[in-house]
Order: sequence, then C-alpha cells, then structure tokens
Amino acid sequence: MSGVDVIARLVAAAESRARDGLGRRLRTIANGDPTHVIVDGRRLLNFSSNDYLGLAGHPALVAALKQAAGEHGVGATAASLVCGHRRPHAELEEALADWTGRDRALLFSTGYAANVGVMQALLAAGDCCVQDRLNHASLIDGARLAGCALRRYPHADVEAARRQLALCEDGGAMLVSDGVFSMDGDIAPLAGLASCAAEMEATLMVDDAHGLGVLGAEGAGSVVEAGLDASQVPVLMATLGKALGTAGAFVAGDGDFITALAQFARSHVYSTAPPPALAAAALAAVSIARREQWRRERLAALVEHFRNGAQAMDLPLLPSRTPIQPLLLGGAERTVAVSTALERDGFLVVAIRPPTVPAGRARLRITLTAAHDFGDVDKLLRALAKAMRDNGGP
Ligand code: PMP
Repeated sequence: MSGVDVIARLVAAAESRARDGLGRRLRTIANGDPTHVIVDGRRLLNFSSNDYLGLAGHPALVAALKQAAGEHGVGATAASLVCGHRRPHAELEEALADWTGRDRALLFSTGYAANVGVMQALLAAGDCCVQDRLNHASLIDGARLAGCALRRYPHADVEAARRQLALCEDGGAMLVSDGVFSMDGDIAPLAGLASCAAEMEATLMVDDAHGLGVLGAEGAGSVVEAGLDASQVPVLMATLGKALGTAGAFVAGDGDFITALAQFARSHVYSTAPPPALAAAALAAVSIARREQWRRERLAALVEHFRNGAQAMDLPLLPSRTPIQPLLLGGAERTVAVSTALERDGFLVVAIRPPTVPAGRARLRITLTAAHDFGDVDKLLRALAKAMRDNGGP
C-alpha cells in the first residue's frame, strides 16, 4: 500500500504554483476579426497569436474546410493505417513534401505528437540525443519517452553541441534543434549545426514550427533559408497550427524513412487520423503561403517597424528578426503587471513565465502577423511605453 494520494499531491502542486503567482489562466476567447479577440466581453488587439501569415480565418481555408466536410464528414473515423487516411491527407502530405523539398511527409494530429512519435521511433536506450537548452518541451519529452541519454547544450552554442556529441556512447546519435525558438524568436545556427552533425556522424533534426511559412524562399522554412538540403537535415518537422492557420504537423524526409516512420511512430499508429476537412484547409493554406510572398514582406516590414520603435524607447527587446518579438522583463510579477496594464488599454499580450522560460527570464511574447497594420504596431508601442513607465520604466 502506497498511502500517497496522487490527485491530492497534484492539486497541492497547482495551488503552490498559484501562490507563487505562476498559475496560468484558462480564458475563453471569442474571435473578433483577424487581429482582434474578445476577452471577458472586451475587444482586444491581439499580439499573442501564432497566426503569422493571417491565414486562420482566410475565406479560402474556411471554404475548403466546409467543402471537404461535406464530402468526407467530420471525423477520420480511425487511425491512418486502419481506414483514416483519406484523399485530403494524401494530397496534403504530397504538397508538404514538395514545398519542403523532401521525398515524403507524414501527418500527425499535433506537433507534440509528431515530436514524441519521431523521436521514440528513431531513438532507444543506448542512443544519445543532444538538444539545445531552449528546445520545445515536446522535443525534450520525445527524448525522455525514447529512453535514450538526453544531453542539453547552452542555447545556440554549436561548439558546446559538438562537445556533448563527443560524450555520447557508441549507439545512435541525434542532434535536435528548433529552427526558430518559440519563446525567444531567434533562429538556430543551422549551418553550424549541420556541419557539426556531419562531422560527429549524428542525425540532425530541425523542428521548424515557427519557421515554416515565414522564412526562406516561398516560405519553405529556416532550413531552406540557411541553404541546407535534405541530406544535411534528414529529419524535418513542422506544424500547421501557426503560419498555416490550421492544426496538425508533419515529419518530412527520405521516402524509406517516412515509410518506416509510419510503421513505428506510436503517436501515428495508435491515434485517430486528423479530420480530413482540416487537411483540405491546410492544403489551401500551403498554396496561399507559398504563392503570396506579400504576406512575408508585410510581416518583415511590421517586424522592422516594431523593432525600430521599441529600440527608440529603449525597451528590453531580445535579438530576433522573426515575428516573435519578446520583451524581457525578468520578474514574473512585473511581467504580469505590464501585461495586465496593456489589457486594460485594449491589447492582448500574454506574459510568459517559468517554467515555460527559465527563472528570472519572464517576458512579454509579442507576436506580429501579416494581418496587422503599421497603425496597430504604433498603438502597441504607445501602450507599451505607458505600461512600462507605470511599472518601473524600461
Ligand atoms: N514545436 C514547437 C517549436 C512549438 O512551438 C510547438 C507549439 N507550441 C510544438 C512543437 C507543438 O506543436 P502543436 O501545438 O501542434 O502540438
């Protein structure tokens, strides 16, 4: 008999987190328009979404979803390998492989499922996985689930990654990095990581959740922007819930690898396929994202406008040229105070606190989208100046 009430223990942990001011609120948000949300009855200008290209509400995506739901129904009804793999899934996988310059792609219901699925399929006890300290939680969890040794290196430090790889035992080795870091917005040193992986005979995996659609020619992502090909980054993962405005994720690579992955990734084999209509909407999003370069140009111009304004005000910006523009405020309490002040003034800018980011590095994670205009950014800058002044200055 253990005598430990595991539910009571969990509840106590949540209460303790709330007492420390680190509890997260679950709020029900209503959709306003591409740039606004309605929270507690108030219309807020949204600077917290990952809808970087402004596609989530695009009429072509909505029409594709409706049309495909009419044809295929709502649910996929089973896992892909049973009878859940429908024509929209097949077409989307083909389009994603073509876009990213890979032989094949395999869909997963979420990015979290893709990361744990691919890592658990590729790695086992006796293997070694070397990861950037700021990698997304799902990559860390994937390595833990695989049961391999997990070694983490200081953020973006290629030499440290090499030293960690040198410490790996004889089994298989993977080097894994976010392409764009989700909470910092900076881009991984991908060319350096690729040479390091080649030299150390490790397999490089890039999670491009925040790069696909945003960086590189036709928005093909951070790996393309870095000039790397499929042989240098044999495992490419990206999500559909951010720039592509839908949901789900994929892993792309060599044909034999993807065929084998479909057999062994447990989060693929034992999970219902994503709704076919969602795949149809994502297919429409891929086509728009590839074609409409103006969205990336507008986004880049908005990012530059925001950074120029924030720098003129001496705001504590992290170095980033992506739509993720964090303001590092340090303490959780002050970060929440500034976020609350912004909300009073009509802006949604969510505070990101530990454990999502390291202690002492709480921040406002400001995200821009192609749906914003320069006036929106100017309004945000004015509100930030006031909120910062009222809460201890920049
Ligand atoms: N990887 C990264 C870098 C992410 O930012 C996220 C999303 N927060 C994921 C993976 C997980 O993707 P999803 O939300 O589709 O589960």
